[in-house]
Formats: sequence, structure tokens, C-alpha cells
Amino acid sequence: MLDLQQYMASAITEIVATAYKNILGNPPQALFLAQMQIATSKAERRRKTLFEKEGINVPPFLIASIATACNLRCKGCYAVQNGLVKGGKGLTAQQWRSIFDEADSLGISFALLAGGEPLTRRDILEQAAQVSGMIFPVFTNGTLINDESIKFFSQSPNIIPFISIEGNEQQTDDRRGAGIHLVVERAMDLMRKEKMFFGASITVTSENWQTVTDAEYLQQLSSKGCKAVIYVEYVPAQEGTDHLVLSDEQLKQLGATVEERRCDCPQMILLSFPGDEEAVGGCLAAGRGFFHINPTGKAEPCPFSPYSDTSVLEVGVKGALSFPLPSSANYRWPIWSAANIMGDAPFSNIVTKWPLSCRTNSIVLYCQKLIRSSTKSVFSKYPTSSIEKHS
Ligand code: SF4
Repeated sequence: MLDLQQYMASAITEIVATAYKNILGNPPQALFLAQMQIATSKAERRRKTLFEKEGINVPPFLIASIATACNLRCKGCYAVQNGLVKGGKGLTAQQWRSIFDEADSLGISFALLAGGEPLTRRDILEQAAQVSGMIFPVFTNGTLINDESIKFFSQSPNIIPFISIEGNEQQTDDRRGAGIHLVVERAMDLMRKEKMFFGASITVTSENWQTVTDAEYLQQLSSKGCKAVIYVEYVPAQEGTDHLVLSDEQLKQLGATVEERRCDCPQMILLSFPGDEEAVGGCLAAGRGFFHINPTGKAEPCPFSPYSDTSVLEVGVKGALSFPLPSSANYRWPIWSAANIMGDAPFSNIVTKWPLSCRTNSIVLYCQKLIRSSTKSVFSKYPTSSIEKHS
């Protein structure tokens, strides 16, 4: 049986090794990476100990939606559709700092900061920069990057911007708005001049997957200074956009092409999310490999599955990740972790009829259809309080 902890640890080691190749010419970044290599090894040991001693599976990744505002309105944006971008206040920088400190102490090595537009919460980014044991990739639309933010990034090596782009100019502007591609290219130029380590985040759809995995396209990004790409498979949060979802055949081709490009473009880190989840025994959400904290502090399976009955402000990160044994008197299945039972995580045998493998598209099917339609019946024997969907 797959040792998920070991698998994730190897994946992190591989990412760090590729990053090394990228920054050999930049001694401060190389030093930072060496420190992070030690930090991620220590984090791995902390996760292992918690699992062995307390049965708590701490994932190495966390996705934190820190911002409730965004200056764009991209087509099909899940954050807008799921009510994350309501312009409310969200958590304070100090509350996020406590969450990050606890995550760090548990052995979580990476917190992907998303939103909304995370650059609207510089106060939180400044707190994250001080959590030296963690790396914070920041998923930004790039429109707020300027000389001042570049200075901040340059002084905060654990905060790594990933600029969203959809492919060529027409594809980016079509989804993000006229002129945005140019703005993004300018931001990349500024960061390249400063020799910053930054990446691109690309939502992969049935319409752009060939463009964004083309070797020439990646070379262009590389020449702009981009050192890593995170591909995120499109999840339809908006009605009428189902046609953008990758077919099974396209998913297979995407996986094979990304693998090829790792050879063609060895200077770049190429990550695909959720990638081949069958290889890791099913969906990695809900704490198997990562989980999501929304702008109000609720723990959720993943950003595409906006359901929660658990707030990390109330129970802490460790509390959210601790599932009591079914035999205990107070047993209550935390609904936020529902996707956990899709894989080989604890208690997977409880609902055996549900499929083992769960790609992100299936998370939509599962979390948005199954949970929406059957939450009450499936979980009625596990009374929940304040099951919440953002509206
Ligand atoms: S920039 Fe990001 S959060 Fe803002 S609308 Fe576009 S996809 Fe949504």
C-alpha cells in the first residue's frame, strides 16, 4: 500500500532539488533554499511523529484564502462563485499569523495563499514572511505588482508570487479582461529584472491545455524569468462552463505532456494539480495531502468545496485535523473532512460504496452534488452543528 507521507515527502524533495538548479547563480536564494531543505525535513519528522503518536494525519500543504476582495472579475472564478470575494473584513493579520505558526509547529511546510487577490492583504503577507519554517506561494492576478511590492518580495524569500495567466494574450484577456495579459507580462519583466524567484499559475481548460503545455510557450515563460508553473485543472463553479472541463482523454494527455515537458524544460518546476490522484490512492483534499481554510477561518476539504462545520479559530489547526474514533461517545464526523473518506485516509471503510479515486472534477461531482444532495441523509447519524455554505 502506498505510503502517502513518504510519497509527499519525496515530491517535496524533488521540488526543492529542481529549484536548486534554478537558483545556482543566486547565492542568497540558494542559501534560503538550503535552510528550507532543513526546515522541510524537520517538518516531515513532526508530521510523522504526530501520526505515529496521536494518529493525526497532518498534510504538508495548506491552502489559505486570505483575501475577500479582488479587482478583477474573471470568467468562471470559483472564489467569486463560492462567495469568497464578498469584500467583507475576513480574519485579521494576527489571526492568520496564529494559524500559520500553529501549522508550522505541526509540520505543514507550504501554505498557498489565495483569495480573492492576496496582494490586497499586505498585512497578512508581512506576517507570513516572518514564519520562517514555511514557504508561501502567493496566487496573484499580478495587477497589483509594482516596485514597492517587488521590494517586499525580494526581502521575503519565503513569499513566492505565482502570477495567473491563461495562455496567450487572447486567452488571458478573454478570461481575465482586456489588457490583463500585457499587465501580467510587465509584472514578470519587473520581477525578472530583480532576479526574483516567481512562477505562473495556469488554470487548464479544454480550450487552452495544448497552448499552455506547449514547449515553446514554456520557453517563453522561462525567458520572462518564470521558474515554476502550477497547472490547476478547471473546476466549473459557474453555470454554462462545463465544456471547459478537461475530458478523461485530455487529462491523460495533460499528464503525459507535463511529464515530457519536465524533460524538455528541466530549468522549470512543473506541478499539476490535482494531477494523478489515482496514483496516490484518491483525492488528496480534506487533509490527506492538503486542506483549505477560508477567509473566515473555516476548514474546508478544498477551495472548490465550500462546506464546513469546523473553524480553526475555535479548535485550532490541530483540532480540525483530529478525527475522533467512531467508537468514542462523542464521535461526530466533521463534515468539512467528508472528502477524506474518498481515499485511504482513516475511516475510509465506512462508506465503501463511494469511489476510491477522486480527481478535482470528481470533487465537484462529489462535494457539490453528493454533499449538496445527500449531506442530510448521509450525515444524519453524525449530528453536525452549523453546517455552512458561503452564500
Ligand atoms: S483574479 Fe482570481 S480571485 Fe480575482 S476574479 Fe480572477 S480568478 Fe477570481
